[in-house]
Amino acid sequence: MPGPKDPSASTPVRSRSARTADLLARDRRHVWHPFTQHSAWAGDDPLVIESAQGSWLTDTDGHRYLDGVSSLWVTVHGHREPLIDDAIRAQLGRLDHATFLGSTHEPGIALAETLLGDAPAGLARVFYAGDGASAVEAALKMAYQASAQRGQPRPLYLHIAEGYHGDTLGAVSVGGIGLFHATYRPIMLETRMVSSPGLLGPGQDRAGRAVEVLTEMRALLEAEGDHVCAVIVEPMVQAAAGMLTHDASFLRGVRALCDEFGALMVADEVATGIGRTGRMWAVEHAGVSPDLLTCGKGLTGGYLPLSAVLATEAVYEAFLGTPDSGRTFFHGHTYTANPLCAAAALANLELMAERGTVARAARIGERIGAATAHLGPGDGVVEVRRIGTMTGIEVRDVGERTGFEVCRRARDRGVLLRPLGDVVVLMPPLGITDAELDTLLEATLASIAEVVG
Ligand SMILES: *Cc1c(COP(=O)(O)O)cnc(C)c1O
Repeated sequence: MPGPKDPSASTPVRSRSARTADLLARDRRHVWHPFTQHSAWAGDDPLVIESAQGSWLTDTDGHRYLDGVSSLWVTVHGHREPLIDDAIRAQLGRLDHATFLGSTHEPGIALAETLLGDAPAGLARVFYAGDGASAVEAALKMAYQASAQRGQPRPLYLHIAEGYHGDTLGAVSVGGIGLFHATYRPIMLETRMVSSPGLLGPGQDRAGRAVEVLTEMRALLEAEGDHVCAVIVEPMVQAAAGMLTHDASFLRGVRALCDEFGALMVADEVATGIGRTGRMWAVEHAGVSPDLLTCGKGLTGGYLPLSAVLATEAVYEAFLGTPDSGRTFFHGHTYTANPLCAAAALANLELMAERGTVARAARIGERIGAATAHLGPGDGVVEVRRIGTMTGIEVRDVGERTGFEVCRRARDRGVLLRPLGDVVVLMPPLGITDAELDTLLEATLASIAEVVG
């Protein structure tokens, strides 16, 4: 349990002010939240967050909470990191926004250079978007258009069961989580799906499972490979599915199959990229380079929405032609490469390099691993899955909303977590201190013990 000096220990019972109650009443009247069943939301006693600092969030009643999931997988150094704050302020003093259609600006240029300086081999071009899903949309359209402009239109996408790539229609089309995606089947793109390399059969290991899924993928490509423009994967871990991890050999196999059948490999690094797995990019664990790589979430350090597609020069060249050739990538957003977002991202990446944040992420992961290694069936834990800092603790199902209940108990201990079904997710800010990490782990393990132990 947190020690006496820990701020989370000072507020065991939450009281709510009239202001908080008023804000919640107004929220209930007019706001529609993402991924939220509103008939339950009112009873769920949501927090109203007022401020933040480092790894901590403070609600409107002054209670502090350790941000155990990086505000849904985005915060890197911490909240209100002074050097990122300064970079955004400095950018505000120069340029708020200018369109990237027909003009350009230094933050957008410099960020592309910085991103590519640390990118997997072969990636040479940066196309900006806003959210993770919009980067995925751009990558899917690029893959199809590139195939068409190389003389062989390939309208099919190959994707992985349990995958998650965002919530726009193209991204949903290549998703594989029934609860989120099945409703929209009738309005989706045409795709082919293989099984998840992270869902093991009884007694199976991850390397064996990788071979099995690659065999399935080969059979699909042998039958319809001429029509497949891209294979999209979440490298090393299917995060939204509950941190389903797979063997690195799976990614090497996907790369080889893409080469053999002429499909582009799209690595969706929106969750895994920017250091979360203890490497800058998760594909580094497998030593492979994709043709297209999407990133988002942590790109701006958790400050602002910005995402990007990194592409090889070969993909880029498929779009070159005369202005009237129709080979232009007719795609973009009004706020593409917004300078404030780009300035935040640049400061984030520069700080990461200066501070050795990626190596720090690997050490945070090891510490989480050491603290959770003993967990097993006797503790009500089905499995602990982890790549770097990305951790999922699958707990025994003891009734409705088991994962939610664990997270609620953690919240009572001053730690904010968010479950995925019965999987308790830990994804701390990479700037978390060892003492804070201990607080996070102690609260998590105590809450698990209380609910399923
Ligand atoms: C979160 C996520 C997305 C979607 O990103 P948004 O910014 O929420 O649109 C896409 N792909 C993966 C792998 C993700 O985890």
